[in-house]
Amino acid sequence: MFEKIVIANRGEIALRILRACREMGIKTVAVHSTADRDLKHVRLADESVCIGPPSSLESYLNIPALICAAELTNAEAIHPGYGFLSENAEFAEQVDSSGFKFIGPSAAAIRIMGDKVAAIKTMKEAGVPTVPGSDGPLSDDKEKNLEHGRNIGYPVIIKAAGGGGGRGMRVVNSEDELIESIQLTKSEAGAAFNNDIVYMEKFLGSPRHIEIQVIADSHGNAIHLGERDCSMQRRHQKVVEEAPAPGITEEQRARIGERCANACIQMGYEGAGTFEFLYENGEFYFIEMNTRVQVEHPVTEMVTWVDIIKEQISVAAGNPLRYKQSDIKIRGHSIECRINAEDSKTFLPSPGKITLYHAPGGPGIRMDSHIYNGYTVPPYYDSMIGKLITYGNTRESAIARMKGALSEIVIDGIKTNIALQQDILNDSNFAKGGANIHYLEKKLGLD
Ligand code: ADP
Repeated sequence: MFEKIVIANRGEIALRILRACREMGIKTVAVHSTADRDLKHVRLADESVCIGPPSSLESYLNIPALICAAELTNAEAIHPGYGFLSENAEFAEQVDSSGFKFIGPSAAAIRIMGDKVAAIKTMKEAGVPTVPGSDGPLSDDKEKNLEHGRNIGYPVIIKAAGGGGGRGMRVVNSEDELIESIQLTKSEAGAAFNNDIVYMEKFLGSPRHIEIQVIADSHGNAIHLGERDCSMQRRHQKVVEEAPAPGITEEQRARIGERCANACIQMGYEGAGTFEFLYENGEFYFIEMNTRVQVEHPVTEMVTWVDIIKEQISVAAGNPLRYKQSDIKIRGHSIECRINAEDSKTFLPSPGKITLYHAPGGPGIRMDSHIYNGYTVPPYYDSMIGKLITYGNTRESAIARMKGALSEIVIDGIKTNIALQQDILNDSNFAKGGANIHYLEKKLGLD
């Protein structure tokens, strides 16, 4: 096992990684910007290194500074968390070539999955179901593109191969808009992602977002940990997540999960990963793979009893997976509400000092957060300040516990989205389960 790890992140995920390291007897190095000296994990870490000014570009995205921190502290490995450099192939490569272990897949795997056209091709070859589409980049051949459109059937969506964060896509409702839309998406993609390759897919009207968690070791073993439903979204940002997904049968889970695990084996994938699917009329359609741990990983941990971060660190150290597929059982139900420092109506960020904080508690309540009384939320980074996770024997029980916890939590001094979360938890369609990805925006009158 590693003796010392650099945690190349901030906020709740840095604290989550630190907690896993402590359990495993691994020493931790916190790296932080000048704006983040007071982060909880910085105080708890064995060592800390200031890596630059507040701007992420000069700190959390500063590759030389991060590698330097690992060198200075004699660490062996770097955990990237999520966001920042976690899906940056260049970083993974430089970490490895500097003699450290990047806790995640190879740079090559990150690169393939970062190119959506290459990712879809890889998945098709591995037998993972994909959205009917152009099966490759669109050329400048207008006739050919019109033919793709006719074969797929309208509406279609034009997507950038290098896109991310819900940007770089355009829905096309009829043939007469197609050629212009391809041109527009191409030039936008070129400007935004420095890559103007676009492809075409069938546009699914009212899908759910269901994703499969996988974990693979360096010995050719891979398992899946079932699915999460992340359909409650605003502007492609997840707001509430849950596991298991309402209405998904054990047979469906086993079938799609096995395909994903096999794809990992076929690719030689190592570490934790998530296969994201759109789910409509009983069918799964692969859209992308995330090659890192995700914000919503705790709901899977609650229902499988697997500590995903510990397993991620363990396989990165070269150990075989400690679980076989047959060890994985889905028990009960778990829900996560993202707690953001933002106005619950306007969604404007609300950084500032937390004058009073009371965490919720009781059976089945987990609060993954770095905030404390007197902590100041800086304005420079993502507005998520924590994740409230509940567990119950049934979905109803997890919902009841979440409602209780949301009314118990106190965060004074800044605005939060807790009122929005309460609104969602009290919604009768949320209670039924299985709402699609447009539901929340419709409910909020935003579509
Ligand atoms: P990104 O990497 O930008 O998040 P994704 O490929 O994951 O891009 O797509 C983001 C979102 O766009 C999806 O969650 C879904 O809401 C929508 N979307 C993408 N592809 C399709 C499609 N073929 N049909 C309908 N909606 C889609």
